Amino acid sequence: MANLIEMRGIVKRFGPVKALDGVDLRLEPGKILSLCGENGSGKSTLMKVLCGIYPHGDYEGQILFEGEEVKARTIKDTEKLGIAIIHQELTLIKELSILENIFLGAEISTKGLMDFPAMHKRTAELLKRVKLDVSPQTKVGDLGVGQQQLVEIAKALSKKARVLVLDEPSAPLTESETAILLDLVQELRASGVSCIYISHKLGEVKHISDDICVIRDGVHIATKPASTMTTDDIITMMVGREMKQL
Ligand code: ADP
Ligand code: MG
Repeated sequence: MANLIEMRGIVKRFGPVKALDGVDLRLEPGKILSLCGENGSGKSTLMKVLCGIYPHGDYEGQILFEGEEVKARTIKDTEKLGIAIIHQELTLIKELSILENIFLGAEISTKGLMDFPAMHKRTAELLKRVKLDVSPQTKVGDLGVGQQQLVEIAKALSKKARVLVLDEPSAPLTESETAILLDLVQELRASGVSCIYISHKLGEVKHISDDICVIRDGVHIATKPASTMTTDDIITMMVGREMKQL
């Protein structure tokens, strides 16, 4: 199948530190790809390269989206392609409502006037899509962290995201919040939204992934179908040796 995203030979340096040393990544359309690696292995850096947070020219290698080379300068450039990143530290403004957060800087207007009913309707539709049963007017600060994450996803969907990058989304979540998130990611896949999922929790990685990509010390180790890997296999690739020998 043709790749939706292809990253080829990505090298990213921070001064003398080579955080990424020629990493390849491929995401097929309609798939969930998990990115696994120990702390500091370069997962977040790779995703920041993908999403234009580190602009073209600030890394070596090539990024292709639907076969076309992308030379993003900003995160807005990749948002236009339909790539949305959700960081572990959520970026919503707690004092504002869900509606205000979703439409901040992208308000719907009719004849030059802000069209509040249209934004309300659209927000309600988005909340339904992420199965968050609260009013669009709810203040984000009144929501739990799991709910705030769903608002982040709703906001990404409002920008017509076709690829969601979730960087350790389950780290602050309870088991039941994680189950809700994983169900949603799988439902979005069914509706054509692909996902790059980062997590240390290998049980959930095995549960939702189509493919698993392992990186270690900024180097791509392997990408394989999830069905062909056990959690022990993933750990061995992550740490570079069999844990049983320790
Ligand atoms: P991961 O997300 O897999 O835990 P990161 O991508 O955050 O790993 O980090 C990879 C490596 O790059 C680490 O050695 C980290 O210290 C380094 N690094 C990440 N961001 C920066 C930065 N802004 N400045 C300097 N070094 C960084
Ligand atoms: Mg990280």
